[in-house]
Amino acid sequence: MPTLSTQVLVIGGGATGLGIAWDAALRGLKVILLEQGDLAQGTSGRYHGLLHSGGRYVTSDPHSARDCARENAILRRIIPAAIEDTGGLFVSTPADPPQFADRWLEACGRCNVPAQEITPAQALRREPMLNPRISRAFYVNDASLNSFHLLHALTESVRSSGCQVLLWHQVVALLIARQAVVGARVRPLAQGEEFSILADVVVNATGPWTAAVAALAGLHIPLTLGKGTLIAMASRVVNTVINRCKPPSDGDIIVPVDTVNVLGTTDVPVSSPEQRSIEPWEIDLLLAEGEILIPSLSQYRPLRAWAGIRPLYRPQEVEAINNRSITRGHIILDHAENDSLGGLISVFGGKLTTFRLMAEQTVDLICRRLGIRSPSLTAETPLQPGHRRHYSLPARLTSIESARATGHPDLLCECEVVSKGEVLTALQGGDVAELADLMRDLRLGMGPCQGTFCAYRAAAVLAEVGAGAQTPQQALHAFASERSRGLSPLAWGTTLRQMALQHRVYVDLLHAEVTD
Ligand SMILES: Cc1cc2nc3c(=O)[nH]c(=O)nc-3n(C[C@H](O)[C@H](O)[C@H](O)COP(=O)(O)OP(=O)(O)OC[C@H]3O[C@@H](n4cnc5c(N)ncnc54)[C@H](O)[C@@H]3O)c2cc1C
Repeated sequence: MPTLSTQVLVIGGGATGLGIAWDAALRGLKVILLEQGDLAQGTSGRYHGLLHSGGRYVTSDPHSARDCARENAILRRIIPAAIEDTGGLFVSTPADPPQFADRWLEACGRCNVPAQEITPAQALRREPMLNPRISRAFYVNDASLNSFHLLHALTESVRSSGCQVLLWHQVVALLIARQAVVGARVRPLAQGEEFSILADVVVNATGPWTAAVAALAGLHIPLTLGKGTLIAMASRVVNTVINRCKPPSDGDIIVPVDTVNVLGTTDVPVSSPEQRSIEPWEIDLLLAEGEILIPSLSQYRPLRAWAGIRPLYRPQEVEAINNRSITRGHIILDHAENDSLGGLISVFGGKLTTFRLMAEQTVDLICRRLGIRSPSLTAETPLQPGHRRHYSLPARLTSIESARATGHPDLLCECEVVSKGEVLTALQGGDVAELADLMRDLRLGMGPCQGTFCAYRAAAVLAEVGAGAQTPQQALHAFASERSRGLSPLAWGTTLRQMALQHRVYVDLLHAEVTD
């Protein structure tokens, strides 16, 4: 079996793992990162899209609130291209406890979370669809953060410093010698034979899979998993992040992300990271709570639903009434101290907003373990936006206009304005194994038709250039089934008609199987 070696082996290509690889690479360490799927296939691609101001945690988790406020400012500086500065509002609706607003504002002051009270009339001028019966409104530094863009930029920075990011590579065993983890056995999921990687330090940054990966070394991490469901509305009803001014609870936020508004979220205990099916009550609740903020919400089309899983650390001594009362702060476990097993660090929890801080603290620990003195550079190093063209409607419309002047723009996805040229450029990167990778890279198939017309065209392009390991039928089956999973919980009205049309195209015309 071939063997590679490195100083730091990171398992997990979400924001946390890539942040750690980036920080370590900037300090001159040799790093290999392994991700079992595509970038952003885990929680980092299944979140609200909120760059937290910290406002959501000032009363329930002040430590996380302070971390978010600090990191918000840093990320705006180092990766502005991934952030849309939407601003955020906390509003008191008639359904919210009126005395909470003053308590919340005081807590913002204590946590250094900038918040400024504005009048309800000013809030309504900014967001005319808001509930006109709001009694208080506060402006905060919330924004929306495109994680697909961020993760591509991190990957390119890691690779450009000579380190490796291997997608579609799964860790199937941890190698242990003399009371320490010394590496991992790796299974390439696209093609190739299993191999081993020896490392001075192995970092387990696998989000909700953390306990499963630690179990490969015989360790037990007491994790509770919480599923959060989200709904994308097909239009941007609001352009500012809107939060309810009350203690964090289900369905209390709307985030504008690219072309949609995301409603979130729930918190349901689940027993595995794969348990992401969505219950009808979650949809009812999110839409009903959303209407408290935007009374006309039911007139808009819900486009798609999905769920992400939070890993919540709950050792026996922590008493918790429910998942929401467990800390949303991050945890770094040095298993040498915790379990007398050297060479392995697990890092999980926190927010996408705090990924850089988590990375800095983890690599500080790695450096101490390796006897290296080298400070983190990430807070001051701009992250170059990935070379791939990520979603920007104006940029895409401009490029289509110029293509139209010279001939046919060759659109594959009309809803999200994705051309064949953009797909071919994405394929050149070599990381595309399935159609869903193009969706995460380019938003192909994310628009109102949910892939009905673009997926088979893109499958044809994949087959034409021989990209990915799937046949066009397999590619279509996988893509259409995944889309269908997100549409099924919303199967009424326009969405139901869309699903019927999609069924006609895929099953009746193209004879592709679709399961959900
Ligand atoms: C519903 C929901 C909404 C959220 N909203 C927000 C928000 O608005 N703002 C915010 O800041 N934070 C938000 N968060 C939190 C945020 O999404 C997470 O903190 C962050 O994405 C975690 O990133 P991660 O890298 O730790 O985990 P992940 O993104 O889950 O990455 C772990 C990776 O490990 C890989 N992996 C697992 N096992 C293996 C293996 N054996 N071999 C190789 N790879 C493996 C997985 O494929 C996965 O890609 C939200 C979380 C949830 C659940």
